[in-house]
Amino acid sequence: IIRIEKANKWYGQFQVLTDVDLEVKAGERIVICGPSGSGKSTLIRCINHLEKVEKGRIAVDGIELTGHERKNVDAVRREVGMVFQQFNLFPHLTVLQNCTLSPMHSRGVPREAAEATAMKYLQRVRIPEQANKYPSQLSGGQQQRVAIARALCMNPKIMLFDEPTSALDPEMVNEVLDTMIGLAEDGMTMLCVTHEMGFARRVADRVIFMADGRVLEMAPPDQFFGNPQHPKLKAFLGQIL
Ligand code: ATP
Ligand code: MG
Repeated sequence: IIRIEKANKWYGQFQVLTDVDLEVKAGERIVICGPSGSGKSTLIRCINHLEKVEKGRIAVDGIELTGHERKNVDAVRREVGMVFQQFNLFPHLTVLQNCTLSPMHSRGVPREAAEATAMKYLQRVRIPEQANKYPSQLSGGQQQRVAIARALCMNPKIMLFDEPTSALDPEMVNEVLDTMIGLAEDGMTMLCVTHEMGFARRVADRVIFMADGRVLEMAPPDQFFGNPQHPKLKAFLGQIL
């Protein structure tokens, strides 16, 4: 459902991605890890064209992003939901309004239907009782679950997560990971940048290690953790495990 071929990207003189190849099938769960500055966020932002590659190809569900055509970008964004480290909720809107805004205004879904869908997903992330509160009245873990519900309200085929738990207090990490595990079990195609290795072991079909803008290793979790090949990955795992 995602095909990335020889993706290269520069920020000025600095090459942030070098010859990245990645193919993801529908229903696959991919975890991406690697040191700070290795290009993880840049790579997943290229998938919904928040960033663009200068060389190479990216196609999502058969839609080519490489030409940077507006209609293709819009079509891809309809299929891809994204959850960030900072929850990026609208502070002046309630939880329910955060979830219904885009469906109503960019998809033309009638209010009643949008609210019904929102409540379905708020139930799924287990905070329906918070629907009429404002983000500032929620804990970090609850806000992040709202961000996940909001993305799901757009009915995406693919969910991208960029370190969704790293801004959270430790006691709230698991509630968000549990939500993500639930999504994975329901068959959602997911790419997650995270250093939560328990999560990676449990749900990932493949784990990817990036360093200096390159994919240095890609393997099923057993092999990735049990028998890492690249010296940089061995060093990295030594630091975080
Ligand atoms: P982290 O684990 O800290 O989130 P990352 O792997 O997600 O790191 P990126 O955010 O993709 O890394 O950044 C990769 C490199 O590109 C970094 O060296 C960063 O400083 C640089 N970079 C990122 N965004 C920009 C930008 N808009 N302009 C210039 N350089 C950038
Ligand atoms: Mg990042």
